[in-house]
Amino acid sequence: MIKNEIILAKIGEVVLKGLNRKNFEDLLIKNIRRRLYPLGAFEVKASQSTIRITPLDEDIDMDEACSRVGKTFGIVAYCRACAVEKDLEKIKQAACEYLEDELLLAKSFKVESKRSDKKFPYGSPEISKEVGGFIADTFPNLTVDVHNPDITVMVEVRDMAAYVHANAVEGAGGLPIPSGGRAAVLISGGIDSPVAAYMMAKRGIELTAIHFASPPYTSERAEEKVQTLLKLVSEYAGRIEMYTVPFTKIQEEIKSKCPEDLFTIIMRRMMMRVSKKIAEQHECMALITGESLGQVASQTLGAIACTDEVAGMPVFRPLIGMDKKEIIAISEKINTFETSLLPYEDCCTVFTPRHPRTKPKIEMVRKAESAVLWDELIEEAANGAKCTVIYPADSVR
Ligand code: ATP
Ligand code: MG
Repeated sequence: MIKNEIILAKIGEVVLKGLNRKNFEDLLIKNIRRRLYPLGAFEVKASQSTIRITPLDEDIDMDEACSRVGKTFGIVAYCRACAVEKDLEKIKQAACEYLEDELLLAKSFKVESKRSDKKFPYGSPEISKEVGGFIADTFPNLTVDVHNPDITVMVEVRDMAAYVHANAVEGAGGLPIPSGGRAAVLISGGIDSPVAAYMMAKRGIELTAIHFASPPYTSERAEEKVQTLLKLVSEYAGRIEMYTVPFTKIQEEIKSKCPEDLFTIIMRRMMMRVSKKIAEQHECMALITGESLGQVASQTLGAIACTDEVAGMPVFRPLIGMDKKEIIAISEKINTFETSLLPYEDCCTVFTPRHPRTKPKIEMVRKAESAVLWDELIEEAANGAKCTVIYPADSVR
């Protein structure tokens, strides 16, 4: 670990929150503390739209700390920085020593300075000029390029200290959890629903997960796959309660009593009804699915209207306007793609009709459904859901 090295994290939209800003900042700090706690002691403090994260123990794994900060919603950018005494000579020295590896590799550079401590005797242009001159003398491989430099050396003179760092890394963006409230994501083992979960968590939603399993048609391994996916999502979203719903009876009932071409749409309406019950039991105010318009028969506008009719609460479909390629790009970024590809069956793929209806009429669906007394079955499925709590790897419980 490098001496005096800290992490500076820029907070994003949180700064727009006016009077609520303090609450948002507090949540963000709490989330950072929770994720960093297993790595050792840190001081985490906010000042001037930046959060300063200072390791207090020796031998803290700063790569891992950065990776965790990079997965915390509410942070737009972050960087590792070196804290220096507010003395121009020491700042120059620190810039060359701390950034030596990067400066040796680069061909061009520039220095940008920010002085928020107005008592510091040099203005920003002077700081940049002095530090820039010193770097150019020390590293003959470098030329100054103010427009498109390989490396931008940043000097920030703040209240407590000065900080030197290089280019910042993009953060996870979004808003701190749980500023957006709680919602229940319907999670399958596919590519889409983990991405949908991640996208809503990004907007500050705290997730509860609902998974429908139909043993013996679906296996335990299929369920474990979903748990693995949620564990990956939880690195961003934090702790997730997952409810596994026994869905076999409902599916068998639909298969024996309802017309085949409406099987999928009726099944999806049943999923919504059961999910609504579970969501209400756990104070979720919305449902989330990984649907994308037109992707399959059950995701046409007509089919979505049919499923929404029985949801009884807002249904968020963050992927609705996205192409598969765009969804895959996010699943690769959040590292769920490989796991999603594992070939285990989902309850949606058992009893699939040969010719599903793509333009179901609501009246027709309602009538077809009425062949079964659903209330008890829905109740039984919701109450029979088994809870598993998912935590990010190496985290506080
Ligand atoms: P995914 O990649 O998420 O599986 P998909 O394109 O395969 O999506 P469908 O199988 O039609 O689409 O499912 C649409 C959505 O319904 C999923 O994104 C998910 O939100 C929900 N869903 C599907 N299967 C299940 C399940 N077994 N348990 C809970 N939710 C499910
Ligand atoms: Mg699926």
